Amino acid sequence: MSMLQTKGARTRMTLWREELIPINEYSRPGTPLRLVRNIVVHYTGNPGATAANHVTYFGKSMIDQNIKIMAEANRLPSPQKEEQLKLVRYASAHLFVDPGDAVLIIPLDEMAYHASQANPYSIGIELCIEKDGSFHPETVRRAVAIVAELCKRYGLNPLRDVIRHYDVTGKICPKPYVDDPAAWEAFRQAVDRAMRGEEDEDMNELKLTTEGWGALAQSLQKAYDKGLLGDYVYVKKAYSGTLTRSELDVANNLIIVNGAVKTK
Ligand SMILES: [Zn+2]
Repeated sequence: MSMLQTKGARTRMTLWREELIPINEYSRPGTPLRLVRNIVVHYTGNPGATAANHVTYFGKSMIDQNIKIMAEANRLPSPQKEEQLKLVRYASAHLFVDPGDAVLIIPLDEMAYHASQANPYSIGIELCIEKDGSFHPETVRRAVAIVAELCKRYGLNPLRDVIRHYDVTGKICPKPYVDDPAAWEAFRQAVDRAMRGEEDEDMNELKLTTEGWGALAQSLQKAYDKGLLGDYVYVKKAYSGTLTRSELDVANNLIIVNGAVKTK
C-alpha cells in the first residue's frame, strides 16, 4: 500500500508542476467540479508561446485587460456599454503542456472555462504549438502521459472520453488534430496504451529501411489510386518516412473497410 502511494505521488510530481492562478471571475471562478466525464484536448493557437507564458496570460494579463475593459464600459452610455462588455474574455484550462514543461493552473476539482457546455464535467488540457503551428513530439508525449494519468484517476476510457474541443463545439481546436484525424486517433490510442503501461512504440515512426519505406509508400499509393484510402496523407507520410504504427493501423483499416464497401 505505502509503495503504491509513493509511486503515485512520484508520478504526479513528474507529470506536471503546480502554479495556481488566483481565483477570479474571468479564468478561475472557484466553482467546484463535481464530475469528470471527459478530458478535453485543446491547442493554444499561439505559435511559439510556452506553458509558462500561458500561466502569466490567464493568471494576470487577461485579467488586467478585462478590468480595463470593464472600467471603460462603466463610463459609457447604454448601447456602447453593452458593446464594450462583449470584449471581456472568459477563458482558461487546467493544464498547459509544452516540450519542456507542464503546468497545472487550476485545481482539478475546480471548473475551468475551456469548452462551453462541457465545462461543468470536464478537465481541459492545452497543448502549446511550435512556431510552425505543429505539436512538438515531446509535447505530445508529455500530454499522452498526463491524459493517461487523468483517465486512470477518473476511471475514463480514452477511446470514448478523451475528446477534442472540436467535438464539443465545432471550433477548429486543437487545429493539428482537426486537420489530421489519424494523428488524433493515434493520440487516443497512445493514451490507451500508456494507461495499460505499455511501451509507447506506436506514436513513433516505423523503423523501416529505405527500401521498406519505398515499398510501403508504393502499396499505399496503389490503395489510394483505387480510392480505398480517402486521404493522401498516409501516402505522403510513407514517402517521407514519417508514418507511425498507429497511422498505418488506421490506413489498413480504411483499406479493409473501403475494399469491403467497393466489392458489395
Ligand atoms: Zn480549445
